[in-house]
Amino acid sequence: RAKDGGRNQLQFYTSEMNARVTERTLIEGHLRNALSRGEFVLYFQPRIDCLTGRVAGLEALIRWLQPELGLVQPDRFIGVAEETGRIVEIGEWVLVEACRQARAWQDAGLPRIPVAVNVSARQFRQAGFVQEVFGALEAAGLPAQYLELELTESLMMQNVDGVIAAMRQLKEGGVRLSIDDFGTGYSSLSYLRRFPLDYLKIDRSFVRDMLHDKPGEAIVRSMITLGHSLGCRIIAEGVETRDQLGYLTREGCDEIQGFLCSRPVPVEAAAEMLHAES
Ligand code: C2E
Ligand code: MG
Ligand code: MG
Ligand code: MG
Repeated sequence: RAKDGGRNQLQFYTSEMNARVTERTLIEGHLRNALSRGEFVLYFQPRIDCLTGRVAGLEALIRWLQPELGLVQPDRFIGVAEETGRIVEIGEWVLVEACRQARAWQDAGLPRIPVAVNVSARQFRQAGFVQEVFGALEAAGLPAQYLELELTESLMMQNVDGVIAAMRQLKEGGVRLSIDDFGTGYSSLSYLRRFPLDYLKIDRSFVRDMLHDKPGEAIVRSMITLGHSLGCRIIAEGVETRDQLGYLTREGCDEIQGFLCSRPVPVEAAAEMLHAES
C-alpha cells in the first residue's frame, strides 16, 4: 500500500512539473513576437494622498493581450521574461510608452501627475540603463520630475555601490525613486540609508495581515517610522478596506494604493480619473 501511495505521489508531482514546463514553453514561445505584434498595453493604478484625498501618482502596470491566451497578467509572464532576458526590451517599451502617455495627458490639459514605472533587476543592470531613462524622457518631452522608477529590494542589495551610483545619476537628473514591495526582500538596514529614495512602498502582504493581530500592526507602524526616518514618503500597497485606510492614516502613512481607491484601469479610464482631479 505504501508503495502504491508513493507511486501515485510521484505521478502527481510529475504531471504538475509537466504542466509547469508546458506553461513556460507556451509563454516563452508567445513572448517572442509579443512586442513586434504590439500585444502589450499599460494599465494605470492611482495612489491617493491620505491628507488631501487627491491622486498623487499613477503606477503603470503592464498587461499582455495575447490573441490565444486572452488578457495575461504580469505574474504569468514577467518571471519568464526575466529568465529569458526578454524583460530588457519589454521594460524599455514600458518606459518609453509610460513617458509618452504622461506627456500626452499633459498636452491634453490634464493635471500634471507623475507616472511610476516598475524596473526589473536585469533591466536596471544593463549598461546604459540610466541613459535609456533620460532618452525616453527626452523623446517624450517629459520633464523628469513626472517619472518615478520603482526598484525592488533584491535589485538594490546586489552590487550596492553600482546601484547607488546609478540611482544618484537618475536622482540628479530629476527622476524620483521608490523601493517597491518593501519588507519582502532582504534589505540591509545599514545600506538602506545610503540609497537616494523618495518613496517606500509597504508590500501588500503586510497591509493584508496588519489588522489581524498586534504584531501585524506593530510591523507596519515600524515600517512607517523607519521610512520617515530615511526621509521617504510612505505608500501602502494593496489597501482594500476602510479599516486599513483608517489605521494607516492614523499612523502617519502618506499615500495609499489599492482596490479601495481603484483597480488598475486602461488608459481612457485613467484619463477620466485625471480629468476628475482638475
Ligand atoms: P507591483 O509593482 O507591486 O504592483 C502592484 C500589484 O498589486 C499590481 O499587480 C496591482 O494590480 C496589485 N494590486 C494593487 N492594489 C491591490 C489590492 O488592493 N489588492 C490586491 N490583491 N492587489 C492589488 P499586477 O498589475 O498584476 O502586477 C504584479 C507585479 O508585476 C507588479 O507588482 C510588478 O512587480 C510586476 N510588473 C507589473 N508591470 C511591470 C512592468 O512594466 N515591468 C516590470 N519589470 N514588472 C512589472
Ligand atoms: Mg510597483
Ligand atoms: Mg509592489
Ligand atoms: Mg509586487
